[in-house]
Amino acid sequence: MKQLDELYGAASPQALYDETVANYRDFVNPPLARVMKLSGSVVEVRAAGTTIYDHHGKAYLDFAGGYGVFTLGHSHPKVVEAVRRQLELISLSGKVFFNPLLGRVAKRLAELAPGDLRISFFANSGTEAVEGALKLAKAATHRHKIVSTTNAYHGKTLGSLTATGREYFRKEYQPLVPDFEHVPYGDAEALERALPEAAAFIVEPVQGEGGVNLPPQGYLTRARELCDRYGALLIADEVQTGLGRCGFRFAVDEEGVVPDIMTLAKGLSGGVIPVGAYLARPACWNAAYAKQPLMHTSTFGGGELACAAALAALDVLEEEHLVENARERGRQLIDGARAVATAYPDVVREVRGKGLLVGVELTHEGYAGTIIPEMLHAGVTAAWTLNMQRVIRLEPPLVVTEEEVERALAALRKGVAQAREKLGVLSCPT
Ligand code: PMP
Repeated sequence: MKQLDELYGAASPQALYDETVANYRDFVNPPLARVMKLSGSVVEVRAAGTTIYDHHGKAYLDFAGGYGVFTLGHSHPKVVEAVRRQLELISLSGKVFFNPLLGRVAKRLAELAPGDLRISFFANSGTEAVEGALKLAKAATHRHKIVSTTNAYHGKTLGSLTATGREYFRKEYQPLVPDFEHVPYGDAEALERALPEAAAFIVEPVQGEGGVNLPPQGYLTRARELCDRYGALLIADEVQTGLGRCGFRFAVDEEGVVPDIMTLAKGLSGGVIPVGAYLARPACWNAAYAKQPLMHTSTFGGGELACAAALAALDVLEEEHLVENARERGRQLIDGARAVATAYPDVVREVRGKGLLVGVELTHEGYAGTIIPEMLHAGVTAAWTLNMQRVIRLEPPLVVTEEEVERALAALRKGVAQAREKLGVLSCPT
């Protein structure tokens, strides 16, 4: 209580909760406030590692993981320390002078990224990274058309939203950016029909927000071949799948595919300072910007704090062998969730995933409204996927332990059992 009082100036935990919910209701987003309240959302006041603490001091094992942001867990001490140190020197780039950390992160990413992906642009979010990638593709090829996939999620700014494949998010904003075509995810024949004259094909190696959808084996390899054949660029959107999440450093590494452009965000700064980036092959970048250095810029992108965080985060990813841990714990999580599916086939239709990007598809989206709050009650966070309300995502930090995975699985089982008991068998949507 004393700590809360000191940190947030609230009279009591309940007062902090009431104030926050009222502010969301009156000044932020009234319907969201209602939904969050109904889902049992609490007020976050502190977080460390895999755990978020609420206004009462209750601990939650974070299996929503900030939708993939907290690869290193919350507030990893090494990243926090790097940011703290940098804060005393210079925090945001003035842009007139060279920023040494920006150069270092770009160099480091080039070392880690597949093939000759080498030139980096830094922004502050995933959607900005995607905007930059789409613009680069158009400028490099002098073509207009962008091919994307149904159910894709690439962000919600206008260009990214046009690439996003869920009509619900797009319908209010028509006409969006012209000359986009969506093809079914995983369908190489449909891709081939759409590719002639296209500037680029943008694709997630695993669709995260689309409901954790895995393409057929060899899809990315085939996409690479087809893009080469038709002179289109391949953009891998690794905002969610990259940096260890799927049990590979980058998800494209599984098939050894080198995209022309790769977008990153989420885990890139270890969940401490917002950052987004794209990496491009030099031939692609030069074709667009060799003589036009200021065509795509960002005031805040690539500031020193974000770069200090990213450098430390990339070190931690390697030092703590988090890519390997994501693979091992992912296997445990998927196997365990499949056992729940087997026990409750009326409620859970399928479990799928790669590494620690795991989706639990329910037979009816109505179950999620019970399962997620029940899991919260049991001290574990989980979340919907943005394009597919029937899929609960489990996306814990890559530092998660065997015992924590077991705890989350126990909460999932309990939530599913409660949903089955409370709601009975819901008829499947067509
Ligand atoms: N691309 C992908 C693959 C994503 O999963 C997301 C966010 N879930 C975005 C882009 C957009 O990122 P942001 O919310 O940071 O704009």
